[in-house]
Amino acid sequence: MSINLLDYDLHGLTELCAGLGEKPFRARQLLRWIHQRGESDVTRMTDLAKPLRERLAQLAAVRAPGIMSESTAADGTRKWLLSVGAGNGIEAVFIPEVSRSTLCISSQVGCALECSFCATGRQGFNRNLTTGEIVGQLWLASKALSQARDAQASGRERIITNVVMMGMGEPLANFDNLVAALRIMLDDHAYGLSRRRVTVSTAGMVPGIDRLRAACPVALAVSLHAPNDTLRDVLVPINRKYPLKELMAACRRYVDAAPVQDADTAVSRAPDDPARKWQREGAPRACISFEYVMLDRVNDRVEHARELIELTRDVPCKFNLIPFNPFPDSGYQRSAPEQIRAFQETLMSAGLIATVRKTRGEDIDGACGQLAGQVVDRTRRRLRREAEEAA
Ligand code: SAH
Repeated sequence: MSINLLDYDLHGLTELCAGLGEKPFRARQLLRWIHQRGESDVTRMTDLAKPLRERLAQLAAVRAPGIMSESTAADGTRKWLLSVGAGNGIEAVFIPEVSRSTLCISSQVGCALECSFCATGRQGFNRNLTTGEIVGQLWLASKALSQARDAQASGRERIITNVVMMGMGEPLANFDNLVAALRIMLDDHAYGLSRRRVTVSTAGMVPGIDRLRAACPVALAVSLHAPNDTLRDVLVPINRKYPLKELMAACRRYVDAAPVQDADTAVSRAPDDPARKWQREGAPRACISFEYVMLDRVNDRVEHARELIELTRDVPCKFNLIPFNPFPDSGYQRSAPEQIRAFQETLMSAGLIATVRKTRGEDIDGACGQLAGQVVDRTRRRLRREAEEAA
């Protein structure tokens, strides 16, 4: 099969062009055609010389995942079920808000980590997504949104301003493909997103956190979910391999090394805005977002919040509390609203920023932890689990 141009970041396209005897600027042109104009047909890339177009057409194509279905929730959240071959489907979710619009994308088909409260973990792991499949979700969504002729939506609501790797899979377990995809997202010739607006979310793969810091430091979210190893070993089993002490140290290293400048904020400020001095003096230091799923009577007590304050003392961070999103046979329930409030207030009284994630797109199963996609489970994990439960 011909190569997929969505697999290539600027470096890769430059090498590809060099192999064809072409200058590096051709790679930038290609990136712009593919990602900014959404062009999938190389023969229509009119500012490339005709012989080059013909060579490329023989050699390469732009192949995004196919759209199996698309749904829009009452609150405007849109979800795409995308086909990635062999009967497998992954999901991408677009979440429009007033001041930003976020695309949540997947990094793997299924997931190997088996977090006990996550629908994706239930299905087991099938395979890593390629770079083209990761970035292809952004490519498709950008295209679909720019073509939408929804009279209600303002231009702004159709632009993706933020990308979060919070769909199916553990991004850091698919490291090389992830990093190439991130580089395309950040590239000014492609999507031009700032580092602060692209978030990698991890269940806590410590070596991956360190590698990401060196290779492509974007915003980092860590799925914490428990304030001590005893509880976290159960909820997020990868904790047995990388316990909290190591995880906190890796978070600290990440923050210490991450660039602080928020280009978006800086350029959009009026000249007399005090925040503008960030441009000169550096923006407030980067921080880790800790995600914390609120599970009724499991990890949601005020004592847990107090333990969290201690645990994260040396890590500049903010908390994002996620009310648990139920799925069939999960065995968990969402914490009561007053419990979530008490938890949040405990964190805030210690000077921490703690927000409660608004549940979006629930009616289309588009909320956190509900993305099930369609995974051919070749691990037989489901059968094993059912047998265990029956026993
Ligand atoms: N593997 C990565 C990214 C995927 S999940 C990670 O673990 O961070 C994105 C977020 O949704 C994670 O914080 C995850 O723990 C959370 N999540 C998973 N299942 C959930 C559920 N049923 N309800 C609420 N949040 C959930």
